[in-house]
Amino acid sequence: MIDFELTPEEKASIETAHKEAEELLRPIARYYDEHEHESPQELIDTWWENREGGGLLALGVAATLRIEEMCWGDAGLMLCNPGSGLGGAAILATGTQEQRERFLKRFNEGKPKWGAMAMTEGECGSDTAAISATAVRDGDEWVLNGEKIFVTAGKRAVDESDGIVVVWATVDKSAGRAGMKSFVVEAGTPGMRIEKMEKKLGIRASDTATIVFEDCRIPYENILGSPEVRKLDKSQTAGFKRAMATFDATRPIIAAMALGVGRAALDLVKETFEKEGIEIRYGLPRHKLTAPERDVMDMEANYKAAKMLMLRAVWMMSQFQPNSLEASMAKAKAGLAVTKITQKAIELMGPLGYSRKYLLEKWMRDAKINDIFEGTGQINMLVVARRILDYTRDQLK
Ligand SMILES: Cc1cc2nc3c(=O)[nH]c(=O)nc-3n(C[C@H](O)[C@H](O)[C@H](O)COP(=O)(O)OP(=O)(O)OC[C@H]3O[C@@H](n4cnc5c(N)ncnc54)[C@H](O)[C@@H]3O)c2cc1C
Repeated sequence: MIDFELTPEEKASIETAHKEAEELLRPIARYYDEHEHESPQELIDTWWENREGGGLLALGVAATLRIEEMCWGDAGLMLCNPGSGLGGAAILATGTQEQRERFLKRFNEGKPKWGAMAMTEGECGSDTAAISATAVRDGDEWVLNGEKIFVTAGKRAVDESDGIVVVWATVDKSAGRAGMKSFVVEAGTPGMRIEKMEKKLGIRASDTATIVFEDCRIPYENILGSPEVRKLDKSQTAGFKRAMATFDATRPIIAAMALGVGRAALDLVKETFEKEGIEIRYGLPRHKLTAPERDVMDMEANYKAAKMLMLRAVWMMSQFQPNSLEASMAKAKAGLAVTKITQKAIELMGPLGYSRKYLLEKWMRDAKINDIFEGTGQINMLVVARRILDYTRDQLK
């Protein structure tokens, strides 16, 4: 039976996250939006000192709800949280036990560290199988070459900490998806460098970097997965499938991020309505409602529908149940919901929504990324359609 019930400790930890969001994140959100590429060092140190779960990307219902709360505070700052991040999620999803220990131990010791995942390239985003970065075996080493763009926490992982980057590359381009493998590159490895930092529309506190790999040599053991996954067998795509399993863990988390931003906007609208004496009359037939009442109810319905999908996807993951379909449903719905909610909130607030006096205009900018990274809305809807209709990638693309 599906069960979202939280323990008293979990409830308390979510309340603490909300308080932290309100007291630590909201007051500095505007500053770091306007000072892109500056690091919120004090916040990072506080987070690192109080980190839970060994700095690993938290997976589970309570942990995901904490992420929602943090993003209610500020999504860009939340992404500055030190820890294993998307790189860690990839290692947990695709690495062996030995690799998990070897690469993730660092997130529980020493100074703040970040993990990143580098898949996207200039000519490869949604079409993950089009990767052109290469990994060539040379004795006991792999030699990586290629350029990865839009890597979240890339600079922090590579230049500002003893972090890791999980890099997706092909060991044989002619093998298509079967040739695609993921590799762990540790900070400080010669041949890996940050080429540039993106200037962005939203989540501007989060660092987004281009990373170049030039004859970057890593140990043979840094290829992720079991010997079965590592081997190149053109008749199967085990490596690719395992790599894609990373998204089953990360998509519900992005959905939670979206929900946090959406709820921030919704709360502001409802507080403003209350101050202005505008009541939202729940329970009336729709034709008797005013347009703003209908709008707020639609926003709430979208938020709640996305939240239920997110909770189901996370819960299934925490029970080790296959959740690819549910993860994509949650991500597609939440990404769309948050863009609609924040835009509608601006509309309802009028010029104040557009003004920098409030964070609402920023939330609208922060919202959109949830519909882009970890698979765009369209791509997640494709995944859902394929799974429901039982079509292969080639039959529905
Ligand atoms: C701030 C930010 C942070 C990011 N962080 C990371 C990161 O940490 N690691 C990483 O590897 N990548 C990261 N990305 C990259 C992100 O995952 C990609 O931008 C995304 O997957 C889309 O790929 P693309 O940009 O190549 O767009 P494209 O694939 O070129 O898509 C362009 C448009 O076409 C649509 N489209 C494409 N194919 C189809 C189809 N078959 N059917 C219908 N519509 C389609 C897409 O939905 C989209 O609207 C980040 C991006 C941003 C903006």
